[in-house]
Amino acid sequence: MTIDGPAGAGKSTVARQLAVRLGYLYLDTGALYRAVAWKVRSVGMSPEDEKSIAAMLPSMQVSMDQRSDGVHVAVDGRDVTNDLRTPEISAMASQVSAFPAVREWLLPVQRRVGEAGGVVAEGRDLGTRVFPSAEAKFFLDADVNTRAGRRQQDLTGAERSAPLERTKQEIEARDQRDRSRAIAPLVPAVDAEVIDSSALTVEQVVDRMMGKIAAKL
Ligand code: C5P
Repeated sequence: MTIDGPAGAGKSTVARQLAVRLGYLYLDTGALYRAVAWKVRSVGMSPEDEKSIAAMLPSMQVSMDQRSDGVHVAVDGRDVTNDLRTPEISAMASQVSAFPAVREWLLPVQRRVGEAGGVVAEGRDLGTRVFPSAEAKFFLDADVNTRAGRRQQDLTGAERSAPLERTKQEIEARDQRDRSRAIAPLVPAVDAEVIDSSALTVEQVVDRMMGKIAAKL
């Protein structure tokens, strides 16, 4: 099962609930791109330095661990889960995700999780590139004001009171980069069901997806 779409469309919430309803594993691929960004930042590299980032990847270790309180991400054995959701890491993840070496390196990492089936995978290119033969594909969208509002709710502490306009600009910049990059751009798979969640509750979106999935299985 794949769910792709722009930032703040509600993919994570919906994917998590769908995974619970189906008894499937939840795969948050954005967290993997964020983990790469975290590593780039921690070693003091510029997110624009494609060559150094590509050279660093083979020695980097990333792992995901499903625990009762959610998915934990570790970089080189250190749990970085709580450091990944900042606006700075979001912007850096978007920058490094445009590099072919980063996408290539993360491809087998993602496919290994999906190997045995039974996965709800969420990101930007899951239906188009990572799992092209997934049993059901969705593309979740919403208007930009709705998405900025939802993203604001995800932020914690001082970031949460950041002006909505700034959050809106940040996600628009990120989406623009994700949609226009040369490889694996953000685009619905031809066989994906596109759902606009602007006026829908999480339950309504999940119900609609469950209906589609039931019709396919
Ligand atoms: O989904 P999330 O907001 O955590 O993703 C962070 C960034 O990682 C996105 O803006 C995008 O640039 C990148 N990403 C990607 N492909 C994916 C998942 C995320 O390029 N499958």
